[in-house]
Amino acid sequence: MKYYSTRDKTTAVPFSVAALNGLAADGGLFIPQEIPQFAPAVKNSLGSMGFADIAFETIRPYVHEDIPDSVLGNMVESAFTFSAPLVPVHDRFMLELFHGPTAAFKDFGARFMARCFAYLRRNEDRELHILVATSGDTGGAVADGFYGVEGIRVTVLYPKGRVSPLQERQIAGLGGNVSAIAVEGSFDDCQRLVKSAFVHPELNRKMNLSSANSINISRLLPQAVYYVAASGLAKSGRYSEDGQATPRLRGKAEEQQVVRDGRLGKDVLFCVPSGNFGNLTAGLYAQAMGAPIAGFIAATNINKTVPAYLASGVYEPRSSVATISNAMDVGAPSNFERMTAHWSYEDLRATISGFWVDDDKTRLTIQRVFDQTGYVLDPHGAVGWNAVDQWIHTKTDPENHLHGFSGPVVVLGTAHPAKFAETVEPLVGSVPVPPSLAQAMERTVQSVTIRADVSALVETLLS
Ligand SMILES: *Cc1c(COP(=O)(O)O)cnc(C)c1O
Repeated sequence: MKYYSTRDKTTAVPFSVAALNGLAADGGLFIPQEIPQFAPAVKNSLGSMGFADIAFETIRPYVHEDIPDSVLGNMVESAFTFSAPLVPVHDRFMLELFHGPTAAFKDFGARFMARCFAYLRRNEDRELHILVATSGDTGGAVADGFYGVEGIRVTVLYPKGRVSPLQERQIAGLGGNVSAIAVEGSFDDCQRLVKSAFVHPELNRKMNLSSANSINISRLLPQAVYYVAASGLAKSGRYSEDGQATPRLRGKAEEQQVVRDGRLGKDVLFCVPSGNFGNLTAGLYAQAMGAPIAGFIAATNINKTVPAYLASGVYEPRSSVATISNAMDVGAPSNFERMTAHWSYEDLRATISGFWVDDDKTRLTIQRVFDQTGYVLDPHGAVGWNAVDQWIHTKTDPENHLHGFSGPVVVLGTAHPAKFAETVEPLVGSVPVPPSLAQAMERTVQSVTIRADVSALVETLLS
């Protein structure tokens, strides 16, 4: 498989170049030349395959020229050491993607990307130094993903005093090959400092700098895996019992509804709480490969650029607005360019419908779902849940997306509610903290504080 830039479909590069460079030289995003298809034997047995086997089959055609099968097998085994349970709640399923070390779905992408980098750079002597700016969530997942990976150092820049105490411990509590810098300034300052570091002559002479940003193809591909796995399970009627970290405080009364009422054997509708639209793009790859997926609901908060585009056909990026589902506060989604390089407006409209949800409705949804079922949604999952409710209301319209659909509906749970306790607990009471977050809370913050100034950053990195 070769990859080309969304802006230039004539020059193709191997997976290793696309992954290690992140962004194409012309500023475009890397996309695969074609989307491979599952063999019929694989397609027919998705419901009974293990997660690591599905991961192997899903990722292999994209990388096999650069990563031998035995290596890929080890990579997926060691990256995905946690489960992605499909939990029935009321009339739908929650796909819980928050059982990894930082309790958000970004662990899937970050952990696989780290292993790719380590393997693809196995013959390099020079240490690779990854710089990341974070407003909170990404930094923790990248730090954790790369922690202990040989030949790679990570430095995370975060705005001092503007991340939660938990996030600060996830970013700055690991030590080892992960360093943290608290910048006296905003997230934008952190981003600006990272960008200046990449063009700083002395720094680049002395260090081999790289980024690990969210548009990296090696972060996207592993996200297709859970769509393939979950659609296979839902279609064949398999689902998970509540596990140790399932955020359900009481009650399991209504949940059998979802498996009783004849939805089995049908393709699946996924609802994806979205910001930069990497997660939804990965779902489109899974569907195009042949996973049993009927379509998608794109759920956003008030940053509704993509739902507005799906409604009007006009793409109007805007500046982002702060909300309680802050990992989705994106006004100009970076993966939009990737989606539209593969699919036309008509293609996208035939598969995706978009809905947006404001903060008041998000809070009401958390409260109502808790009252009815005992299940605790985080603010991002609640946006997804409410979008499904809106879609159900419009479903009777024969003009509508997936009119007459009667298969299983799966909402992606992108973060554990304990990660957003300050929003969730006033609505539902205290939320038990999963073991990975409890462990992170025990760590000591080890960060250096600097002024929001390039010379201060350079001095710290070179010291
Ligand atoms: C990053 C993130 C999202 C948005 O995902 P995209 O791939 O950027 O659309 C949603 N929810 C949570 C909790 C996240 O961390």
